[in-house]
Amino acid sequence: MMNRRDLFKAAGAVGVGAAMPVALYAAETPATGGNAVVKTELKRLMLRHTWTTTMSSSAYRDTVHLQYQREGITGYGEGAPIVRYKEYPEQAKLALDAITGKIESGDPREFDKFLAEVRHALGDHQHAAMAAVDIAVCDWLGKKLGIPLYQYFGLDPADAPVTTFSIGIDTPEITRQKTREAEEFPILKVKVGLQNDEETIEAIRSVTKKPLRVDANEGWTDKEEAIRKINWLEAQGVELIEQPMPAHMFEETKYVRSKVHIPVIADEACTDASLIPQLKEAYDGVNVKLDKSGGVMEAYRWIKFARAMNMKVMLGCMVSSSCTVTAAAHLSPLVDYPDLDGNLLISNDPYEGVKVRHGKLILPSGPGLGLKVLA
Ligand code: MG
Repeated sequence: MMNRRDLFKAAGAVGVGAAMPVALYAAETPATGGNAVVKTELKRLMLRHTWTTTMSSSAYRDTVHLQYQREGITGYGEGAPIVRYKEYPEQAKLALDAITGKIESGDPREFDKFLAEVRHALGDHQHAAMAAVDIAVCDWLGKKLGIPLYQYFGLDPADAPVTTFSIGIDTPEITRQKTREAEEFPILKVKVGLQNDEETIEAIRSVTKKPLRVDANEGWTDKEEAIRKINWLEAQGVELIEQPMPAHMFEETKYVRSKVHIPVIADEACTDASLIPQLKEAYDGVNVKLDKSGGVMEAYRWIKFARAMNMKVMLGCMVSSSCTVTAAAHLSPLVDYPDLDGNLLISNDPYEGVKVRHGKLILPSGPGLGLKVLA
C-alpha cells in the first residue's frame, strides 16, 4: 500500500493535471481554505568534483528543502545557505521549523503579504530558508493556476539564454580534464583569486578558445594587482569579471573599474535590493541569486531594479538541486548572464527540472516549477 509520501511522489511524477485522490488526506488539507502542511528536510548533495573557491573546499553540500502541501497540491522549495553571509543548513532548518505554524496558516493567494510576513518572522541571515518557502509557494501557485512559472511572469521560454558552466579551482591537469568534460557548454565560468590564477587560465586555454567569465570571489585585495590581473584576463578572451575585490573595498573597486575594459559584476557586494543604486557607481552589473534574495519573487524585484538602473544582470546559483536551479531558470529570459549550473555539479539530484542543451537553458513546461521528483 502506498503511504502518503509515496502518494505525493507519484502525484509529482504524473503531473498535477492528473486526478489526485484529494479525499485521502482531506482531513488535513480541505479542498478549499484550511491550513497547509509543511515539511522540512536537509538533503546532502554529493559533488562530482571536490569544489574549491577562495572560501571553501568540500565533497558535499547540505541544502534545506521544504514541501508545501495544500488543497491536494505539493510545492517544492529549496535554499542553499551561504556561509559568507553567516547562514548554515542546520540553522536554516531550525528557523523554518520554528515558524511552521505561520507558514501553514498563511494564504498563498495573498502571497505578497504572506511571504513578507514569513520573511519578517525568519529575520536576518535566513535568506536560504526564505528561498525554500518562496520557491515552494511559487511552485504551488503555478500548479494551482495550471501554468509554468515563466508564464506567471509573462516570459517566453525561448528567450532563456545560454548558461555558463563552472570550472572549479584545481591542479592544471584536473582543470584541463574538467574543461574537456565541459565541451557541450559554449561559455565557461572560471573561479580565480588564488595564487595560481594564470596557471588555471592557461590550462583552460590549452584545451579551448571559448569565451570565459571569471569570478574572483573577493580574491584580490590590492587594486593595482586586480587591474593587472583583469587586463591580463581581457587579453585571454575573458568577457566579465565578478567581484574582483572584497565587498567592503568599494572605492578601490570603483578605481579598478575605471582601468579595465570588461564589465565588473557585484556578487558578494550585492546582498540587498536597496544597495543596487550605490553599487552602480563601482560595478556594471549585479549577480542575483535566489539564495541571497530569498526566493523567486525577491529575485524578480532585484532584476527589475537593476534594469531600472541600466545595469547588467547575472543570475547565479549555489551548489543546489534542480529545485532551486529550475526556479531561477524560470527568470532567466530576463537576464544577460545566467550562471545556473549548481545542479550539474552534483551526482544525486533529487529532482529533474531545467535541462541544458548546447549550453542553452530548456525550461520545463509543466505547471509551477515543472519538477519531476526522483528521490
Ligand atoms: Mg560569484
